[in-house]
Amino acid sequence: MKRITTIILLLFITVSTLAQNNVTPESTELYVNLEKVTPGEQGSAPSDAIVLFDGTSLDAWQSKVFSVGGSMRDMAGRIPGFTAEGNGGPAEWEIRNGELVVKPGTGYIETKQGFGDVQLHIEWLAPSAEGKSGQGYSNSGVFFMGLYEVQILNSYENPTYQNGQAASVYKQHIPLVNASKPVDTWQTYDIIFMAPKFSDKGTLVSPARITVFHNGVLVQNNVELLGPTVYIGTPHYVAHSDKLPLALQDHSDPMRFRNIWIREL
Ligand code: MG
Repeated sequence: MKRITTIILLLFITVSTLAQNNVTPESTELYVNLEKVTPGEQGSAPSDAIVLFDGTSLDAWQSKVFSVGGSMRDMAGRIPGFTAEGNGGPAEWEIRNGELVVKPGTGYIETKQGFGDVQLHIEWLAPSAEGKSGQGYSNSGVFFMGLYEVQILNSYENPTYQNGQAASVYKQHIPLVNASKPVDTWQTYDIIFMAPKFSDKGTLVSPARITVFHNGVLVQNNVELLGPTVYIGTPHYVAHSDKLPLALQDHSDPMRFRNIWIREL
């Protein structure tokens, strides 16, 4: 009896409080004009995405210009086939059967357009090869702003250091799990990249952050980057533009890509 009395009293207090404050269900329901986006079918681009590669042309891409200096330039000469002397001329990778294929030795390619905060979808395939292992077995990478690498690598029964395997933020963050598929199989990355922010004086206001789904599995959960990717040593930030091209790595392997699209956030 005492319990029922207590419940009735609580209900009375709640109702009278709501009435006093004029709080109604509707008072916390928001109506705004949301932009309409038509989702893509099976990973294809939604209606508001910028299509970077749909199997027909490399118009969105050029040979990488190394104008920022530092990180990737440091890698030149240390990785077979790597060149840090891109010229901004036409992308020299090939289109075969509607796929974008790395032409080893021609260097990185980058988008002509610069991007800051983005959602990226990219599909990639690591081809099988005899006698290759570790970092040397089907390596590429997505470089956000040309500086921050999410590793692309055959990591299906191909051991390497875990902070350098597929879906790692190279040498900064180990993926939560290994969601790799075997070689010669198409794989997907869906990535949210938040660009670092710098003050007018060039000091870091907020670091870059990355969330990665590998084949639909969460593998990087809003991790904070220490700075641009470096092969040797410790990363550190250097102030740069709000928007910079997205780059794909030529690491001397004939990696294949398809269905690449990006949404500005
Ligand atoms: Mg790589």
